[in-house]
Amino acid sequence: MKKVLIASVILILIVFLGFKIFENDDVSEEELRVVTSYLASDELEGRDIASVGIEKAAVYLENVFKKNNIKPYFETYRDNFKWSALDLYNIVGYIEGTDPKLKNEVVIIGAHYDHLGTTAEHVGDDEIANGANDNASGTSTVLLLAQRLAKAKKNKRSIIVAFFSAEEKGMLGSKHLAKRLKEEGIDLYTMLNFEMTGVPFKDRDYMAFVTGYDLSNMSQKINEYANNDNLTGLSRLSKERNLFERSDNFYFYEEFKVPCQTISCSDVSNYDYYHHVDDEVDKLDFEHMVNFTNAMLPVIETICNTPTKEIKLNNG
Ligand SMILES: [Zn+2]
Repeated sequence: MKKVLIASVILILIVFLGFKIFENDDVSEEELRVVTSYLASDELEGRDIASVGIEKAAVYLENVFKKNNIKPYFETYRDNFKWSALDLYNIVGYIEGTDPKLKNEVVIIGAHYDHLGTTAEHVGDDEIANGANDNASGTSTVLLLAQRLAKAKKNKRSIIVAFFSAEEKGMLGSKHLAKRLKEEGIDLYTMLNFEMTGVPFKDRDYMAFVTGYDLSNMSQKINEYANNDNLTGLSRLSKERNLFERSDNFYFYEEFKVPCQTISCSDVSNYDYYHHVDDEVDKLDFEHMVNFTNAMLPVIETICNTPTKEIKLNNG
């Protein structure tokens, strides 16, 4: 009887420890669905600049930062700027590095959280461009990555988490923030911007492309850190359309001349609803999105922890 009891206890311990060992902190499909669905809901009215909807999105992002111990980078989470008479704001959080020296080096992860608002092109009685893929998806990816990074507290380098406004008006938010951080003299290592992470490619080996592929070894390093040759690659369409200059990475590159690139799962060839009223949550593939987001987590962690800056401009 005693032997049975001891055996049972050992068995329970093995099972318990086994769970502990295999327990991981992956982002779940449900979390991504909840965040993306809120940002792309009709309540937020397409997140146009200077609207009630984008203010709600901003407050939501700030609350998630607060709950997860992600500090404001500036005095508050808001990085305010003016565009003609309008008061606009990026939302900027900060996860301080743990290493006394390396924490002075900064890694930025970012995504634009604005979209087009309502449009003249109705579909039935729908006039709200919800921007689920563009860019509620990228915003959710970055928000959940930031949440996990803040929880793990294993980043030796510091991380700035930036949500840009007015990308759709000509990347105004990122232009403002890049200039401001340059004036502050931060030591920017690299910037990874996320766009349209919500749908997979059907005709390619990789999950995402890196804009400005030839600019640096970023794509190769991402794959190396993820231990996955097919995580990122080159998009011919992105190159033809020069997407490198058409998202929020660009002004960071212009200011700092370090690898600042966009990681995206859609170059429009695989999504029919780009800038369309039908860019809604029901068009997204959350299984793909969660796989992509979780694949990027160890990548960002490694970027924050290598002894030297391994991602480099190809001619730098
Ligand atoms: Zn976009």
